[in-house]
Amino acid sequence: MGKILIVHTGGTIGMTRTAKGYRPDGAYFREALLHMDSLKAKGMPEWEYTETIPLLDSSRMTASEWNAIGQIITDSYTLYDGFVILHGTDTMAYTASALSFMLKGLNKPVILTGSQIPLCETRSDGRDNLITSMIIAGAGKVREVCIYFGGLLLRGNRATKYSADGMQAFVSPNYPPLATAGISIQYNEAALLRHHSDRFEFRPLANVPIGVIKVFPGIRFELFESVLTGKLRGVVIETFGSGNIPDVEGKLLPLLERARESGTVVTVCSQCPQATVDINAYEAGQLFVQAGAVSGRDMTTEAAVAKLYYLFSVSQDSERIHFNMERDIRGELTAREDI
Ligand code: ASP
Repeated sequence: MGKILIVHTGGTIGMTRTAKGYRPDGAYFREALLHMDSLKAKGMPEWEYTETIPLLDSSRMTASEWNAIGQIITDSYTLYDGFVILHGTDTMAYTASALSFMLKGLNKPVILTGSQIPLCETRSDGRDNLITSMIIAGAGKVREVCIYFGGLLLRGNRATKYSADGMQAFVSPNYPPLATAGISIQYNEAALLRHHSDRFEFRPLANVPIGVIKVFPGIRFELFESVLTGKLRGVVIETFGSGNIPDVEGKLLPLLERARESGTVVTVCSQCPQATVDINAYEAGQLFVQAGAVSGRDMTTEAAVAKLYYLFSVSQDSERIHFNMERDIRGELTAREDI
């Protein structure tokens, strides 16, 4: 077992009850950790603890908080064998996706976890989520950004929050779990990311204007014109099924063409959690082909958003960004040739 760093960023796991509802409470959480005997038990990795300031409900996370977490990992990269990031569940899949892109050449486990019930409550799921994440981070078998939650280890940029009520909050519908934690932790070796590079590099994100549009029956595309063609650099369109979109009055195609001319990268994802977008499959997706939109393949919206932030942070060349959006760069999508 190696030595790990626990980075507490906020979220339910470390919250306590107040008159206005649950709120992050660093003092309580630090004290609680010191009194958890299992964290000192044999078989547990040696650990140290740090916090980001202020601790946040994860609904308030932005690219600047992702950068702060990435910076902590980078600054202490050589001192630890793995990292556990305690984080709220609401945007955990976005943060995990963002970190997966920002931490280029990562060769150590970065495990995000949290809980549905705070550690201060009797039925908290936080204890197991924390202990198992620490064991996975200390074991060093995975060398990528993951989410561990409710018995499953998932690739971070494939995960999505599925339940706000159940103890199994996350799923990764288009990629198998990297491990399952039952009586023992069983790794799915074939699913783990192969390590390509020896050079670890931190690439912080810029606050790029990105948007997500969810399509619904009767959507009036003309209302989105100014954001699509002027204000946003990257747009994720959540379409029906495998990339279908209603364009009854033919208003969308010219709009998408103008968006492309102005350098906006439009990425097509699906509203179905389990799906592979192929804009060539149906006539209803053809306008995306004509307008030169990106097929998001089986990427989650969370991964597509984080990838747009990342690619626009490292380049301004929208043709190159378009090309890279369709490529598998951190295990976030199944490229056409992989099928
Ligand atoms: N609102 C909380 C958060 O995301 C929910 C949670 O942690 O489960 O910070």
